[in-house]
Amino acid sequence: MIRLHNVSKTYRTDKVETLALKDIDLHIAKAEFVSIMGPSGCGKSTLLNLIGLLDVPGSGTIAVGGQPVASYQDKHVAQLRNTTFGFIFQSFHLINDLRVIDNVELPLLYRDLPAKRRRRMAREALEKVGLGARMDHYPNQLSGGQQQRVAIARAIVGQPQVLLADEPTGNLDSQMGREVMDILLQLHREGTTVVMVTHNEHDAHLASRIVRVFDGQLVA
Ligand code: ADP
Ligand code: ADP
Repeated sequence: MIRLHNVSKTYRTDKVETLALKDIDLHIAKAEFVSIMGPSGCGKSTLLNLIGLLDVPGSGTIAVGGQPVASYQDKHVAQLRNTTFGFIFQSFHLINDLRVIDNVELPLLYRDLPAKRRRRMAREALEKVGLGARMDHYPNQLSGGQQQRVAIARAIVGQPQVLLADEPTGNLDSQMGREVMDILLQLHREGTTVVMVTHNEHDAHLASRIVRVFDGQLVA
């Protein structure tokens, strides 16, 4: 599904160069559930952003579905990203001025779909995460766990093959975190590839594989 070969990434600011990732070789198979672990600053978010085509490597190659991403034109990379990946973040990134249903519908606005169809897909995604009754609420009327479930609905509404999660339970208490993990496991059982950055050993072990990063390199 996704293959990184010899991937390195350096961030450059005015004076400082940071080698965030060095010679990463990683293969993520279709329908795998992979956890990425490692200390703060080791390069986990950078790795996830590269996998999700939110950023480009300094060197090395990334291939999605066997096709090197560098061979695509920019607009096709954006299209590949939007159709292949769904993203969820530690801090939810919901728009507080929009109702829950409208937040979930957002990623579909870029697709050429009738309004009724978009609304139905958003409703189905919310039902899938157990929030069918909260469609007309605003995000700040919901608990943190519910907000993260809305974010999952938004991530899956376009039926991506791969769900990328950056510390999805990092801002949640253990009960709400468990509910979020249950949904990720359910999506995985249904065939979605899941790649999750986490600091939580228990959550990490729910995955089918743990990848450990240290100082920008894969160590296990
Ligand atoms: P982690 O997710 O494991 O905490 P990151 O991938 O966020 O690690 O960061 C890896 C390294 O790259 C860190 O040293 C971090 O400070 C640096 N870094 C991350 N993003 C940027 C950026 N946009 N500009 C400069 N340095 C960055
Ligand atoms: P935190 O909660 O620790 O601030 P987030 O979960 O918000 O971190 O974000 C995790 C990573 O995702 C960061 O590296 C950030 O740069 C990236 N990110 C956050 N929001 C977006 C976005 N809308 N589009 C692309 N990348 C994003």
